[in-house]
Formats: sequence, structure tokens, C-alpha cells
Amino acid sequence: MNTEKSQLLFEKSRNIIPGGVNSPVRAYKSVGMTPPFIKSAQGSKIIDVDGNEYIDYVGSWGPMILGHAHPEVVSEIKRACEDGTSYGAPTEKELMLAEIIIDAVPSVEMVRMVSSGTEAVMSAVRVARGFTGRDKVLKFEGCYHGHSDGLLAKAGSGLLTTGVPDSAGVPADYVKNTIVAPYNDCDELENIFKRYANDLAAVIVEPVAGNMGVVQPKEGFLALVRELTLKHGVILIFDEVITGFRVSFKGAQGYFEIEPDMTVFGKIIGGGMPVGAYGGRKEIMSVISPIGPVYQAGTLSGNPIAMAAGIKTLEILRDNPHIYKSIEEKAVELEKALLDSSKQYGIPLKVNRMGSLLSGFFTGEDVTDLKTAMKCDVEHFRKYFRNMLQSGIYMAPSQFEAIFVSSAHGKEDIEKTISAVDYAFSKL
Ligand code: PLP
Repeated sequence: MNTEKSQLLFEKSRNIIPGGVNSPVRAYKSVGMTPPFIKSAQGSKIIDVDGNEYIDYVGSWGPMILGHAHPEVVSEIKRACEDGTSYGAPTEKELMLAEIIIDAVPSVEMVRMVSSGTEAVMSAVRVARGFTGRDKVLKFEGCYHGHSDGLLAKAGSGLLTTGVPDSAGVPADYVKNTIVAPYNDCDELENIFKRYANDLAAVIVEPVAGNMGVVQPKEGFLALVRELTLKHGVILIFDEVITGFRVSFKGAQGYFEIEPDMTVFGKIIGGGMPVGAYGGRKEIMSVISPIGPVYQAGTLSGNPIAMAAGIKTLEILRDNPHIYKSIEEKAVELEKALLDSSKQYGIPLKVNRMGSLLSGFFTGEDVTDLKTAMKCDVEHFRKYFRNMLQSGIYMAPSQFEAIFVSSAHGKEDIEKTISAVDYAFSKL
């Protein structure tokens, strides 16, 4: 595989962009490689500057659920561009996207658009604090909620893979109100509530964790989170940046039939454009400026091009519910291929799958939280990843991320991926 141009670009970038990348996991550090620089993407394929074509299971880290450059989405984006790219003023498109979200997700009665998942989470936490008049926030180990200071307490995702346990530059004071609990641990949750219930403004959770690899909530875990938060007047925030409109059109909350007080959405609601949103009960959302005392603002919030891409993406998902079934079926095939190869070549592997999201963990132990995820043999993952890439399969360069299947993945893509899995395992 020729990677000359990518290597050259990476070298140049490293001089003027920290690590050569604008988000750390992209640097391929944890797999000991230099990243392909991407030139274009279409459907299920992504193409690098050296002309290598890959089947893409990153999907821009989730949002490309319809595949890349979906013709209807692109056409809406083009049309929106012709009307001007930003006004910093209210538009009908913002209202349309808000209505689609509110219709899909019953717990959301009001929604505010922002430009990233980080911004959405940060704002939701501020609202929860403003609404309750309390300061403490509980998050779970291995869940990632963006890079705002208060939530960079033992965050997962990019930080895990670059081997930095926490971030420098976050003052201890900023995280002193952040409590970190193990995911899926009901006893510890009860203990924390016994101690802090009356100080907690919010509990924030990925209802299916996607940032320590995919980890499903254990039976009863989310129900207990809901029960305790309700009992003590704590705002329950579901971070559905990964699961929203992905696990089902109603998100993970629709799937598990648990209603949080607030929900955070991200990239998927912008169809790949920079968008995030946070919403919840009207009573809670009414504390936000200009109607309430909690300040939050954004020049590019509700950007018309991003809204156009988001509206079309969500409309297609809403009007074609079979998409969810078909992407899940493809994920099931991949899950089976991984497990078959693990058995055939005697390499310990556990697969966690939730709908069209899955992770293969190189460990013989069930992965239910960060501690068990960290038991993975990352050297096996590294080798596996390199062999997959060589075979033209583009996955997240980290053991602790998900594979995202899209509606653009065809039968041939899945067959080619299954052969690549077999080859990669045969080389381990
Ligand atoms: N929350 C979750 C669950 C995420 O997975 C991410 C990013 O992947 C974020 C928040 C932050 O979103 P963004 O990268 O758009 O800031």
C-alpha cells in the first residue's frame, strides 16, 4: 500500500498542528502508525490522498449513518449554501430540526442547538446546576462527555488511547465537584447517593457507553440511576451523542424506555456537519437565557447549512425505519465473523454489540466497565488493526472505540470485511 503522500502531509502538519491532527485519536499513536490523510468519501468508502480506498467503519465517529455524501443530504447542503452560509439570526430550519428531535424523543420538550457535543454537554451541566442550585455532578468512568474542564476527570476515548490518564491544564478546583463512579456498578452508585444525593445537580451517563469500546448497561443499571435521581431531585442527563438516532430513532432512551430529564445530542443530528444540541423538560430548559438566568450562547449555533444537513438526515431515518433493522443485521454478521475467527485461531475476544454499534475486545473476560475494558491485549489490537487497514478496512485506531455500520455498507463490503477479519486473525 502506497502511503507516501499521507506521510509527507503528516510530517508537514506535525510542525504546525499539534501532533499533526485536530483531535488526538486521529494521530494513530496508539497503533504506532501514521494516519492516512483523507481526500474524499462516498457511500461506504473513504479514499486517501495516495488513492487507497477503504471500507469505512468510522463514519466520522458516528454521524455518517447514511454513508458519506448521501445525494439527498448533499443536495440540501448545496441549496442551503446558495442562500448564504450564516446569519446569526433565527431561521425556520432551526425550528424544523427542533421539531424533528422533539417528535422523536418524548423526554425532550425544548431543545437548544450548539456546534459540538462538548458544547452541548457543558451547557446541559450548567443548566442542571442552574436549575437545581447544586454544584456536584456524577459521571461514570470510561464515559466520555467531551473535553470541557469539569468532565475531564478520568475521561475515556482519545485520552485512553494516548495513554494520558487525565488532562494537564485542568485546575483541581474545576473537577472538585465531579464525582466519578464505575459504570454498571449499582452498589457503588447507591453508596455515592447515600453520601452526596443532596449535593448532586446531575448524573450524566452514556446510556450505552461508546467511548471505552461499546459497553451496554447491565440489566437494572439505568433503571437504578433513574430511580435514585428522581428520588433526590437530581437531573438525569443522557449523553446520546453516540446513541441518539443510532441505537433507535428514539435513541437509547427509546430502546430502554427510560426517560431522562435532559438529553445531549451531537454530530448525527447535523448529518456530519458541526452540530450538537441539548434538550429536556420545558421547566428545566426555561432557565436558559434569554428567558432565564443561565447564560449560554453561540454565534454559529443553529447554522443554516448544518441544520439543512441534519434535517435531511433525520428525515431519511424517520421515513425509512427499515434502515435500523438492516444496519443491525450487518453488524450481527460482523459480530459473528469476529467471534468465529476468535474461535478458529484461538485468540480470546469478546464482542459487545448494540444495534449497529459494536466493539471486539481482545480479552477473554466480559467487558462491562472501564476496568474490564483495560484488560484487553492492546498489542493484539494493534496487529489486528494494521492487518485490517492493509486489507482496505478503515476502523477507529483504538481498542476503545466502536465500529459504526451505515446504511451504505453493501453485501460486498460486509463480505470483504469478513474475509479481512479472517486474514487479520490468521496473522495474530
Ligand atoms: N459525548 C459523547 C458520548 C461523545 O462520544 C463525544 C464525542 O465523541 C462527545 C460527547 C463530544 O462531542 P464532540 O466531539 O462533538 O465535542
